[in-house]
Amino acid sequence: MKYHLITLGCQMNMSDSERVKRVLDGMGARFTENEEDANIIGILACSVRQKAIDKVYNKIAVWNRRKKNSNLITFISGCVLPADKEKFLKLFDIVFAMRELPKFPQMLSQYGITTPAGLDNDNLNAKDEIGLFWQVKPKYDSSFEAFVPIQNGCDKFCTYCAVPYTRGREVSRPSEEIINEVKDLVTKGYKSITLLGQNVNSYGLDKKGDEINFAQLLEKIGELGNAVENKFWLYFTSPHPRDMGKDVIEVIAKYECLAKQIHLPIQSGDDKVLIKMNRKHSVSKYRETVSVIRELLPTATLFTDIIVGFTGETEEQFQHTRKALREFQYNMAYIAMYSPRPGAASHAWDDDVPAEVKKERFALLTEDLSDVSGGLNVEMVGKTYTLLVRQTDRKAGYLSGQTEGKITVRFASENNELIGQFVKVKITSSSNFSIEGELVKEEVSVEA
Ligand code: SF4
Repeated sequence: MKYHLITLGCQMNMSDSERVKRVLDGMGARFTENEEDANIIGILACSVRQKAIDKVYNKIAVWNRRKKNSNLITFISGCVLPADKEKFLKLFDIVFAMRELPKFPQMLSQYGITTPAGLDNDNLNAKDEIGLFWQVKPKYDSSFEAFVPIQNGCDKFCTYCAVPYTRGREVSRPSEEIINEVKDLVTKGYKSITLLGQNVNSYGLDKKGDEINFAQLLEKIGELGNAVENKFWLYFTSPHPRDMGKDVIEVIAKYECLAKQIHLPIQSGDDKVLIKMNRKHSVSKYRETVSVIRELLPTATLFTDIIVGFTGETEEQFQHTRKALREFQYNMAYIAMYSPRPGAASHAWDDDVPAEVKKERFALLTEDLSDVSGGLNVEMVGKTYTLLVRQTDRKAGYLSGQTEGKITVRFASENNELIGQFVKVKITSSSNFSIEGELVKEEVSVEA
């Protein structure tokens, strides 16, 4: 029995797909890269953009044609809006919310798929569905980088966002489980670990005092880092500027293993737009947080998310966003053109910024970013950095890796053994979007 799984969207979906694979492997099925060979085929959907949902409709149309001549079971999970779910129930054999994953074998048994070995359900003992879900041990895609979910859902209700309607309210995962999963990964030699949540800084708040908060969780992982031999970098995504307290930044400054890379979504550089987005913070509040980051984490890189062309965004308001990008000196910004999402509050509003204006603003901001990050890249030339080697580079005879700040650097080497290892590289040249270096030291051990 073979299965194929398509994962759309964010890191949370990628992490969830590792648990889906674990469950299917536990039923004796084997993953196949080739869609045509699969008996069970599934997709983890993303509802952030219409394009992603259109991809699902195209795929299921092809699979349902194939079903006419072959035994094929189709399933869908991930981020699905209620409106789409209604339609998917008529198109897919199985539609389930991600937290229902532990019940997936049962759902498949209705199609004659039995569990030979059986998933060792017996060690799933959490009180609720999401708790049981988190106890499914992921089949990590990488042997040196891993995602660790710490929370599910979101209570922020930004007006452009569908996530609160697809993943529900914020639920924090027991900190003991998180620490054990991180400890297990570090012991196995994982080099890069990313804590995942829609709003990681509000971790623990839903437990009303029965759980530690985010800064305390980082502190525990920091202590773990100080106590173990293996070197690793701990990242987290996605924080919300509204909840990014000084306590979190102070803990990051205190521990070497807590990576000096911050992703802080600004979305817009204009207060009126932020209010309309229901982001519940101002640009000046954001500025305060960035200045604390710059003061306590002087080597940290800063990444962000920006939406251009949100309903009613004027030219002047857009210029405020351009100004903010230059002021906060981002190393990277994920820029998106606004598209209304069914279910999100803004879907009822006029999408009144013309498409060509959105494209123009997207292009201008991308240019600004290339200027700013290009300038920051130049400052790296001549310096030596520790890199986590991640893969072979497009350039033949080169490998590429990332600094602690998640800046990608390529260097000449054909030694693929280095993939998954820390090395030292001296930066020799940079351009707006790429940086080259030369290998200084192959293996970087603990003392680096
Ligand atoms: S914080 Fe806002 S943008 Fe992020 S997941 Fe929650 S509602 Fe969506």
